[in-house]
Amino acid sequence: MSFESVLGKGQTAQHLASLTQSNRLPHAAAFQSENITLARSAAKELAAAYLCTSENMRPCGECRSCRKIHDDIHPDVITLKAVGKQSIGVGEIREMISDCYIMPNESHGKVYLIFDKMTPEAQNALLKILEEPPSGVMFVITTEQTSLLLKTVLSRTMMFKLSPTKQIDDGNEAFQAAVEIARAIPQNIELPLLGATSSLMNSREFAKQVLDYLAEFFTLALEQKYLGEDGYEDYIIGIARPLRKSNIVKLYNVANQALEMLSHNCNLTVLSTWVCANIRESKH
Ligand SMILES: [Zn+2]
Repeated sequence: MSFESVLGKGQTAQHLASLTQSNRLPHAAAFQSENITLARSAAKELAAAYLCTSENMRPCGECRSCRKIHDDIHPDVITLKAVGKQSIGVGEIREMISDCYIMPNESHGKVYLIFDKMTPEAQNALLKILEEPPSGVMFVITTEQTSLLLKTVLSRTMMFKLSPTKQIDDGNEAFQAAVEIARAIPQNIELPLLGATSSLMNSREFAKQVLDYLAEFFTLALEQKYLGEDGYEDYIIGIARPLRKSNIVKLYNVANQALEMLSHNCNLTVLSTWVCANIRESKH
């Protein structure tokens, strides 16, 4: 298995692979997708990448650790689910927190896969451990919608938005349209941004894909800002360098609010104008 085999040849798969190879995996990650099965598969893949013992490409899919994760029998990969109720409660999260200080059974670390919705109390309990995570522990959240997670939790996790299907690739038009918007953001003149955001009028599905990419770009820009490392695409650095963290968070919120508007059947011309105006506003 590999990130590509689960996610297709996209920006996300590439990004996860590069984080793995350079040992920069986050303490906490979240996968959002309307296709929750896809989000859970991606989360397992990330767990495999973290615990894989191969010296080559990780996850290798062949070592003992990878195979056990694939078969759901790895003792150091703990899955939290809401059994017999709607959400994972604060009790389960507290139990998880005390467990995460216990040494792993056979790997160099432990991974907690949070596969169902959490109550707000549970998320607040989780937040404490995300603020000071013990070393060698990774938390991976999956969610159908980012709005189900508290903003405070979101701000402590590396968010990956997955399109419900695997069709993403760098050559596709929506990706290119998102890159065009990203490149227009740091410019001081309005025209390029106006032109770039007009692509949102193409179709609803197209607009959704573009906004999903943008949300991902803003997450990457924020990450670049925190880590200050190289290896990001020029359009990510183009956003990260001149803008403050708070401005990038605003941009991220613009992308998510626009997705929300889209899900409420908003008119595409209105959407495009709104996105353009709010992106400009976010820079101040
Ligand atoms: Zn492996």
